[in-house]
Amino acid sequence: LVSRENHPERSTVHVGGVPIGPDTVTLIAGPCAVETPQQTLEAALMARKAGATLLRGGAYKPRTSPYAFQGLGEAGLRILAEVREETGLPVVTEVVDAHDVGLVASYADMLQVGTRNAQNFALLQAVGAAGKPVMLKRGMNATVEEWLMAAEYIAQRGNLDIVLCERGIRTFETATRNTLDVSAVPVAQRLSHLPVIVDPSHSGGHRDLVLPLTRAAIGAGADGVIIDVHPHPEQALVDGPQALVEGDLELLAGVMRDFPPL
Ligand code: PEP
Repeated sequence: LVSRENHPERSTVHVGGVPIGPDTVTLIAGPCAVETPQQTLEAALMARKAGATLLRGGAYKPRTSPYAFQGLGEAGLRILAEVREETGLPVVTEVVDAHDVGLVASYADMLQVGTRNAQNFALLQAVGAAGKPVMLKRGMNATVEEWLMAAEYIAQRGNLDIVLCERGIRTFETATRNTLDVSAVPVAQRLSHLPVIVDPSHSGGHRDLVLPLTRAAIGAGADGVIIDVHPHPEQALVDGPQALVEGDLELLAGVMRDFPPL
């Protein structure tokens, strides 16, 4: 279903009316995690200033440590819905448990499946049946083939509104959090008709890498990027070091302008 063999035209997925596909480079931005109403609104305004047309923000955070902040849950979803009202930006947010899919789908415009759940087949089937577009991150240990098969689980439930997101893979290199596999962008686009975007924030793990990796992603033909921004990253509960700050927004807007789609 997701293969390009039977569907030679590349697809466009609409999220709350915003297209992600071959004719545009969509910017999705916002906080890594929803922390407070004010922090989320400020981050959304930063995102919009940089040219974002979709807001990201996690209410359910899949953390390596069970002692780390796990997200605000439904209270976070309510904040996202309020910020959508105030800014007009449709919301992309992660769901980590198949049991929460209905709840998250009732607030979100797009459901995100994260790298740690990229082969959680029960979750993939549940989001496939939820009637909302899905952003599927690549598993950090997954081959492109495994990533596309994960997408197939979603599609098999009748949902072809799937966007693939390359977010870095595990390699021997420790200088970056993960290694952005830029070549996966044209490879996945050759094999699948689905749009392919890149997360330069979670792959690099460092603010300084976000703009160079954004350039690399768009240069390789990505259909969009998803980027963390935070009004006060030094106080962020999750992933502050990779969040862009106010002073980076003009530069990000410039990168998005200077690099039209391939
Ligand atoms: C995220 O985008 O909030 C996230 C946790 O990303 P990943 O699943 O790629 O680590």
